[in-house]
Amino acid sequence: MTESNKVKIEPFLRNDQYNFLKRQVKIILQAHAATQDQGVLDATRISAVEKVLELLPPLTDEQKQFVLNAAAISESLHAERYLFEGREYVIPFPELSDSDIRALFPKAKKINIPELKKADAKRMTYMSWNDIRSERKYIIFPHRRGMTGWSGSFKPMARKGICAVCHGHTNIGLFMAVVKSGRETYTSRGNYICQSSETCNDTISSLQHINDFIETLNKF
Ligand SMILES: [Zn+2]
Repeated sequence: MTESNKVKIEPFLRNDQYNFLKRQVKIILQAHAATQDQGVLDATRISAVEKVLELLPPLTDEQKQFVLNAAAISESLHAERYLFEGREYVIPFPELSDSDIRALFPKAKKINIPELKKADAKRMTYMSWNDIRSERKYIIFPHRRGMTGWSGSFKPMARKGICAVCHGHTNIGLFMAVVKSGRETYTSRGNYICQSSETCNDTISSLQHINDFIETLNKF
């Protein structure tokens, strides 16, 4: 089969699922470094690919084959090539124009929107940036009825800690948003999250914690 008539694989992985797959590939590599016992290696790689398949909706044969190919990885160069190809199959974060973004923050008088590189869209569970000057952080995430924006104050911490969104041990800061606590009342809600949304988006391996974090902001 030549490259041109190879069946094209449609993107099927969310960014967090890609990160989960990346972790499983790492577990397979670590098993190869730790043992030569074929039984142990087989068990590790079967369990690793099964965990990935369990997360995913029904796949086409080609998509499923791509996931199964992870089981054959035994050295880091192969893993790198595999994960590079896998990035192609990530569903990109929806493209938003500057005016789309502004509409998500109707109360903000002036927001500095950073240039979003196309390549980054395949590395994003949520879009976020820090406005250093105003010490604020902006977050955009598809939630309930669609794309939603949250902004809040952001105070970087001097020590590393656990991020509420990705659960990684990273450089974090306290994000606090003013949210409605009742019909006419407001309160501050937030949590410690990664200073760098790139780091966070590269670490996040499930949507559970980001959904919990967003629910905290929305609860009243
Ligand atoms: Zn994080």
